[in-house]
Amino acid sequence: MVNLRDYPDHLNPRIPDSLNPFYYKPETRNQKPETSHAGIYIHIPFCVKKCPYCDFYSITDHSLIKEFVDALIHEMAMYSEAGLLFDTLYIGGGTPSVLKADYIGRIIEAAFTFFNIAPDPEITIEINPGTVSPGSLKSFRQSGINRINIGVQSFQDATLKFLGRIHSAEEGEMAIKWARSAGFENLGIDLIYGVPGQTVKSWIFDLEMALRFEPEHLSCYMLTYEHGTPLYEDLKNGRVKPISESLAASLFGSTGAFLGNKGYIHYEISNFSRSEEKISRHNTKYWAFTPYIGLGPSAHSFCGTRRSRNRRNVSDYIQNVKAGIPPVETKEDLTREQQIIEAVFLGLRQKCGIDIGFFNENFNLKFEDIFSDIISDLSRKELIVIRDNRCALTGKGMVLLDSICAEFVCREHE
Ligand code: SF4
Repeated sequence: MVNLRDYPDHLNPRIPDSLNPFYYKPETRNQKPETSHAGIYIHIPFCVKKCPYCDFYSITDHSLIKEFVDALIHEMAMYSEAGLLFDTLYIGGGTPSVLKADYIGRIIEAAFTFFNIAPDPEITIEINPGTVSPGSLKSFRQSGINRINIGVQSFQDATLKFLGRIHSAEEGEMAIKWARSAGFENLGIDLIYGVPGQTVKSWIFDLEMALRFEPEHLSCYMLTYEHGTPLYEDLKNGRVKPISESLAASLFGSTGAFLGNKGYIHYEISNFSRSEEKISRHNTKYWAFTPYIGLGPSAHSFCGTRRSRNRRNVSDYIQNVKAGIPPVETKEDLTREQQIIEAVFLGLRQKCGIDIGFFNENFNLKFEDIFSDIISDLSRKELIVIRDNRCALTGKGMVLLDSICAEFVCREHE
């Protein structure tokens, strides 16, 4: 039970303005009023085992879980006067499902205690199939969570083995069935493709398997080799050979074509939903310049012009919060140039593209003029389309997202 009396003033310092990403008054925030409902992201920094490709912050020693949950709730108390209305709560990680359902229940209750939450919020939890039971999923659902994201990654044991996952393909399927039985009507499945040895046929098999469960949402991520991960070392030492660029393009293209044929909306480069209503409300905030507050170790916060990141180390995070010190480690005010680059990059990731009217108004620029030659070149190559005052990539263009973004951002914006 979260009790406000547990958070007396001396343990509940307000985040100083210099560290508070929400310091700016709402009217000066770089955002559209109709998208102003903010999001809350909670990072649970524990996993059973580190997957070799993963560069998210998490540890496998679970001895600090209780202290972490206490610290997290204290951190929420620090932000309790953020002055924003939140309509999404996303519990990610790490592996949130390594926490007992009671802890998850406490976290959600605390969020409702300390934040102004809009009616009908989207409350998501990420789970790993190797860490759940029918009972834990039922408890998650009963604690108010109404959306679940299941990190299945593949329905083939050989791929799961390569990825170093702790669960089998069968456990992935069981977790989905249990989640449905627990009452989750908004269910997402995460899959990874581009694994060495994969073919278009074997990848389509994973997609077909996923569709047997009629998920409301699918995230299909291309395997990447992130610096500092064991998989990156394997790549450097020649132990792993990445797939060719042409196969990567075929896999990406066949994903969009296959899921499009099945009626899924490809609303963001890696994300598909069964209907407009099932688009991830929370993740859309990351791409639409909407404020979000990140809680927990390594979590990021954003308010349109200011970005900050919490300490990564769990012990440091707990010590900071216990001492009444906000656990913010870095903060950065985005320059106008950086904001323009973000607007282009985040806009092009989405099917709806860059909102040209918003861009022009926000940056006092004429998008069509400053990028006129790039726009005509890319339009001629059928890589982008300008429609309804928006600039969006075509399916062909999405394959080349990075290089197209580079063309836009190399431009001087005066
Ligand atoms: S379970 Fe998820 S967060 Fe944990 S190491 Fe694997 S990919 Fe990363």
